[in-house]
Amino acid sequence: LTGRLQDAFSGLRKKGKVSESDVQEVMREVRLALLEADVNYKVVRNFVKTVREKALGEEVLGSLNGGQQVVKIVNDELTELMGGEQEKIVFAEPGQGPTVYMMTGLQGAGKTTTAGKLANYLRKQEKKKPLMVAADIYRPAAIDQLQNLGEQLDIPVFSMGDQVSPVEIAEKGIQQAIDDNRDVVIIDTAGRLHIDEDLMNELEDVKAAVNPHEIFLVVDAMTGQDAVNVADSFNERLEISSVILTKLDGDTRGGAALSIRSVTNKPIKFTGTGEKLDAIEPFYPDRMANRILGMGDILTLIERAQQEVDEDRAAEMAEKMRENRYDFNDFIEQMDQMQNMGPMEDLIKMIPGMNQVPGIADFEMDPKDIAHMKAIVLSMTPEERENPEILSQKRRRRIAKGSARDIAEVNRLIKQFKQSRDMMSKMSKGNMGGMEQMLGG
Ligand code: GDP
Ligand code: MG
Repeated sequence: LTGRLQDAFSGLRKKGKVSESDVQEVMREVRLALLEADVNYKVVRNFVKTVREKALGEEVLGSLNGGQQVVKIVNDELTELMGGEQEKIVFAEPGQGPTVYMMTGLQGAGKTTTAGKLANYLRKQEKKKPLMVAADIYRPAAIDQLQNLGEQLDIPVFSMGDQVSPVEIAEKGIQQAIDDNRDVVIIDTAGRLHIDEDLMNELEDVKAAVNPHEIFLVVDAMTGQDAVNVADSFNERLEISSVILTKLDGDTRGGAALSIRSVTNKPIKFTGTGEKLDAIEPFYPDRMANRILGMGDILTLIERAQQEVDEDRAAEMAEKMRENRYDFNDFIEQMDQMQNMGPMEDLIKMIPGMNQVPGIADFEMDPKDIAHMKAIVLSMTPEERENPEILSQKRRRRIAKGSARDIAEVNRLIKQFKQSRDMMSKMSKGNMGGMEQMLGG
């Protein structure tokens, strides 16, 4: 999706004034890009119509920076398409007993994994005390899987084996939570390969019995339009409250994220971005729009960093980036933090502009490479680290020797460092400014 839109936009933003045919042409590209990304065709049609109307407005055609305005309109409308504002997860009113969530979805969508991720997230971010309930009695290993997650996370799991009905398990699970003073109950339910009557009846029964605060529909982003169709059917039958989109780490097209909200009118509240139990993030429509348009997800990156990093230090770092004072000491400090933050591949792809780098989708980083980079930086003098501008050829040769790396490798690292520093400084100077830079290449 990103590549195609970027090509369309880069031509446009170089123009000052835009004509009606410029807008028509770019909208044709936008339409193709969305269809190619497997976005629902009705959604595409409405989207293109809205954007075209706004872009053909007089203020845009008449203005000197019309091209940029069209890009901004596309960005804003994409955000709107995905719900506009971020929607918060619903909790029970204080004193009204535990919050009850039901995980629903097809087999393999990620319900059980997401139950664990959500429990972990709520404990960490909301200071909740979750209990997970194993109400998938059909898949042989389902109960074990949940218990296993519970053990890894040190979060209790309630189960009654597979000879008791899901309704009874859910009800007893809630009672157990009340007895044990747990304030969130996450009920993991069974899925099927396809939607069928039995499954829907069972889910309806559980819903009626426990009256959940949220019914999360878990859908696999990699299934594109199918994800949207599944969401539509579940919603019609069960009246879900929100969607959790999993496997976004494997979805390069972004089509499901774009259509689900407008087809079901239910918000996406979380995304799953990996198999690990901390790979869950609240869904922000504006960030997703930026990501689709190729700005990278710098805010998520910063947020994730803040969970690991002390906040004053993070603010200082942001300030340094803005003022282009970011140096090799910061670089190496961040390297260390990043290693604690999760797989390097995931993080790199969130950096603005990185998703435009050819081959980045297959990018993997060898921990050895990180060790080498660190060795190079550690061979610099404090002065060189603070002021990379002074790194002459002579100094570079000394560093190469000191770190037992090639001179070419040293040069490459310094070049990459400078490029990303410039990029970060541009990005942090405001959205549109940054986006123009990115789109202009
Ligand atoms: P369920 O049948 O709906 O309960 O699905 P599971 O929770 O058992 O997940 C099915 C598979 O998807 C497992 O191998 C999970 O590790 C994997 N999975 C779940 N969420 C994600 C995600 O966000 N990213 C990736 N890459 N894999 C995921
Ligand atoms: Mg499961």
